[in-house]
Amino acid sequence: MPNIILLGPPGAGKGTQAKRLEDDRGMVQLSTGDMLRAAKTSGTEMGRLVANVMDRGQLVTDEIVIGLIEERLTAGDGRGFIFDGFPRTLAQADALARLMDRTGQTLDAVIEMRVDDEVLVARITGRYTCGNCGAVYHDTTKPTAKAGVCDVCGSTDLRRRGDDTEDALKTRLMEYYKKTSPLIGYYYAKGQLTSVDGLAEMDAVSSAIAKVLDRG
Ligand code: AMP
Repeated sequence: MPNIILLGPPGAGKGTQAKRLEDDRGMVQLSTGDMLRAAKTSGTEMGRLVANVMDRGQLVTDEIVIGLIEERLTAGDGRGFIFDGFPRTLAQADALARLMDRTGQTLDAVIEMRVDDEVLVARITGRYTCGNCGAVYHDTTKPTAKAGVCDVCGSTDLRRRGDDTEDALKTRLMEYYKKTSPLIGYYYAKGQLTSVDGLAEMDAVSSAIAKVLDRG
């Protein structure tokens, strides 16, 4: 399986598609957002350090997230990594290239999930996830079949993220446009970028991504 980056603003559907790729193809999702949230919940020193920054919607330092990826980026066993929410700055992109090089791996594709800003607010402010299995839901577009119970694993630990508020989202979008969107040009120039329509139905987005993965 190839190693890929899912690139796009918050709410583009990166996490949802990454989870599907894990289920369907046995690929490995590396989400720096999930790693940071886990650090926050378990109350590690790093978690305490990043909590406020994350809740405000700002980016944490390159050093911290590069360190997290470095810890997880082993030589790889051919299952294919999905980088979800990383890299988010040019410095992180350069660091990823060096890490891949050092571990003898290649970055095979960067998939940009294109969406309109207006839909992001609606998508994000209605979003909740299962704290146990990570399934993603939405108040209007994809509620759980039974209120308060995860369809997948039956857990009642359904959570909303602290930064899925309108205020934090404004900051997250601004951070995306200022610091992350330059990566689109960066990977385009490297000949690695493919864009898919992130506004299409979830299955259509998955097939568009599958096409990129299967092109060889
Ligand atoms: P996400 O779950 O990807 O939306 O990330 C949630 C929050 O974690 C972001 O708003 C940032 O505060 C932080 N974060 C996640 N990944 C990164 C990254 N690659 N660089 C900097 N901050 C990050």
